[in-house]
Amino acid sequence: RAKSAGGNRYELADPEADARAITRHGLTTALPAALDRGEFFIEYQPLVYLGDGSVRGAEALVRWLHPQHGVLGPDRFIPLAEHTGLIVPLGRWVLEESVRQARVWQDRYEEAGPFRINVNLSPMQLTHPGLVADTVDILERFGLEPDALCLEVTESALIGADDDLLKPLRRLSEMGVDIALDDFGTGYSNLANLRRLPVNVLKLDRSFTQGMQQYPADPVDLKIVEGIVSLAHSLGLSVTVEGVETGAQAEQLKHLGCDTAQGWYYARPGPPDRLHELALADATG
Ligand code: C2E
Ligand code: MG
Ligand code: MG
Ligand code: MG
Repeated sequence: RAKSAGGNRYELADPEADARAITRHGLTTALPAALDRGEFFIEYQPLVYLGDGSVRGAEALVRWLHPQHGVLGPDRFIPLAEHTGLIVPLGRWVLEESVRQARVWQDRYEEAGPFRINVNLSPMQLTHPGLVADTVDILERFGLEPDALCLEVTESALIGADDDLLKPLRRLSEMGVDIALDDFGTGYSNLANLRRLPVNVLKLDRSFTQGMQQYPADPVDLKIVEGIVSLAHSLGLSVTVEGVETGAQAEQLKHLGCDTAQGWYYARPGPPDRLHELALADATG
């Protein structure tokens, strides 16, 4: 038992840590078969255009229906998949499945205008040589325009990125794929650095919106967000806010000039049919 947990004596002294290590080990070894067996699925969270409140797209968020542990969120297994490299085939599956779904939605809401899909990319996918070719192949296979796809990359993945790392992102961006800087504001946000990155969407992290749950919001929080939004706009970036949980937040963020919002106030992540209902309700008034 100690061996299966990695033989770490210190973990044995702490039964809970031991159990966690065993779970981690168990989850890690179960990942490849889980992909083969189709145990992963995707929930979609609507992206709402603040100008008129319409649903213009969705972010794809992966989950694992584990046969023993039930539904596991990405925070439980994405780090493990990154560690073992399984994130490359898993991420490719997420991209393919999300693009396939986006195609279905586009066909359904033709009159409502283009429906867009956001997909998260791990740092390891960025350095994988097949990224551009795989993305092109998937878009072509499902007949989705590149500008209907937005790839989300975290700020920390691009910290100190050299040109080799940025090259594939730049190529995708030139093709028309949107690139979003996810969780902006959680790391060592370097606003000047934004100019250098092939990014055209800024996703403001939830931590910024938390100070706006009450009305009136903390004036310092408001000033900070206002400053970031105006800088982003002056650099030609659109701004999406994450974690909008109340109507007061939504109002204030709209007032501050944010373009798109996402959060429980509008909808939690859910199955494709749920998003279908929301978008349809929206399109029919
Ligand atoms: P993220 O890309 O920043 O996604 C937003 C997270 O915030 C999601 O958590 C979403 O469920 C949650 N969220 C949305 N609205 C609200 C809200 O109003 N309040 C609160 N408290 N939370 C909200 P989730 O689904 O657990 O995903 C966590 C992270 O896992 C994602 O953060 C993303 O970094 C990563 N992830 C998810 N799917 C994938 C994937 O397919 N590939 C990769 N590489 N990473 C993924
Ligand atoms: Mg994201
Ligand atoms: Mg995010
Ligand atoms: Mg976040």
